[in-house]
Amino acid sequence: MSRNAESTAFRSALEVIRAVEPRVADAIGAELTDQRESLKLIASENYASPATLLAMGNWFSDKYAEGTVGRRFYAGCQNVDTVEALAAEHARELFGAAHAYVQPHSGIDANLVAFWAVLADRVESPALKKAQVRQVNDLTEADWFALRRELGNQRMLGMSLDAGGHLTHGFRPNISGKMFDQRSYGTDPATGLIDYDRVAEAAREFKPLILVGGYSAYPRKVNFRILREIADSVGATFMVDMAHFAGLVAGKVFTGDFDPVPHAHIVTTTTHKSLRGPRGGMVLCQPELADQVDRGCPMVLGGPLPHVMAAKAVALAEARRPDFADYAQRIVDNAQALAEGLLRRGAKLVTGGTDNHLVLIDVSGYGLTGRQAEQALLDSGIVTNRNSVPQDPNGAWYTSGIRIGTPALTTRGLGTAEMDQTAELIHTVLTQTTAGANADGTPSKAKYTLDPALADKVARQATDLLAPHPLYPGIDLA
Ligand SMILES: *Cc1c(COP(=O)(O)O)cnc(C)c1O
Repeated sequence: MSRNAESTAFRSALEVIRAVEPRVADAIGAELTDQRESLKLIASENYASPATLLAMGNWFSDKYAEGTVGRRFYAGCQNVDTVEALAAEHARELFGAAHAYVQPHSGIDANLVAFWAVLADRVESPALKKAQVRQVNDLTEADWFALRRELGNQRMLGMSLDAGGHLTHGFRPNISGKMFDQRSYGTDPATGLIDYDRVAEAAREFKPLILVGGYSAYPRKVNFRILREIADSVGATFMVDMAHFAGLVAGKVFTGDFDPVPHAHIVTTTTHKSLRGPRGGMVLCQPELADQVDRGCPMVLGGPLPHVMAAKAVALAEARRPDFADYAQRIVDNAQALAEGLLRRGAKLVTGGTDNHLVLIDVSGYGLTGRQAEQALLDSGIVTNRNSVPQDPNGAWYTSGIRIGTPALTTRGLGTAEMDQTAELIHTVLTQTTAGANADGTPSKAKYTLDPALADKVARQATDLLAPHPLYPGIDLA
């Protein structure tokens, strides 16, 4: 396929949009420029292929398709059936899953589908039957607690937030924290690693209905075989949320005990993080949960997004190609090179390194909060996000950590030598940034000083690092 085709496609699309609302066309163009120019180290972001992006921008968006393949509540869904069935087939083949549900609009939505499926499968409740015919969004908080009581105060055991777990694993800001009585497992304070004996102990004491594995900010492999044994020993359903590392599972970097699919009853994921697909979610499950999972819409999901399912089918087809395994391995090689580069320069890393796509820097070693470090790096053209570290003294807002990840830069083609240079840039900025003080002289968790000339110099060096690896090399909008 000619590179010219990509340029023509996007140029023409912008021309059509510009004729209606030029400011939107300009913003789309400006976003490409911004993404091209920034050293993107946000662990949850990536760059989808032009084919994936184009599959989303069309008339599939016009179609209503509630229901499942071959069983729709709307007429004329034969083409939606084609793309939904393709996306599900690619997902099953790629991950070796018995069943795939590709309708969830995001990772959080996929988790909601999974929770309801497990509750409906495991708990006999008239209140739940009632909730299933209403939109869950209509329930008040009092309704939730009544429902939760009627469901028998079901329990969820998941990874604690500051150890790298996700809000949707039973924490109060998310509905999972209202639906379930939650308890969490953390990591060993000395090593930063999951202590499986402690997880087993917590499971024995707490007897959860659902044991959740998976994380957003844990830089290590997780042994899903052991977690499954723990779940079995207490009769829990074992769910894994692989939103962050699905690409490493797809690319066969995580196999055997570290591949969640053969071990979990149900697996949820996003499609836009390391998997490099469109913004969306997915549920994979064992056959016995399939019927309940397929009820996701309208139980907790709005109508399916056929254009996004088309893009999922394209991205999953890409992930089944041999070069995706090479990509996945390079993500990890790059993360390890970044970690080694930081360690060699004296940075403090949670768990002392990484064996996945992300690195968590404990920036207290630089005398900074996560908030100060995030902003100073951003001033220097380096995009990261602040994140709690285990037992974080600065809480979830200011934090003491910076999470960096390599899926996006690996997509651009940067390699281990450039990761070492990236480590140098990060270390330079963090050593040159000093924490500020409040008006009354107390230390500030937000203010900092960094010489603007140094920030500019680092930003130029970051641009130089990116220059040999253009983002979307086949797309020229000029
Ligand atoms: C990112 C993430 C999600 C949420 O995904 P969205 O698509 O933003 O809803 C859920 N779980 C985990 C573990 C994540 O990292």
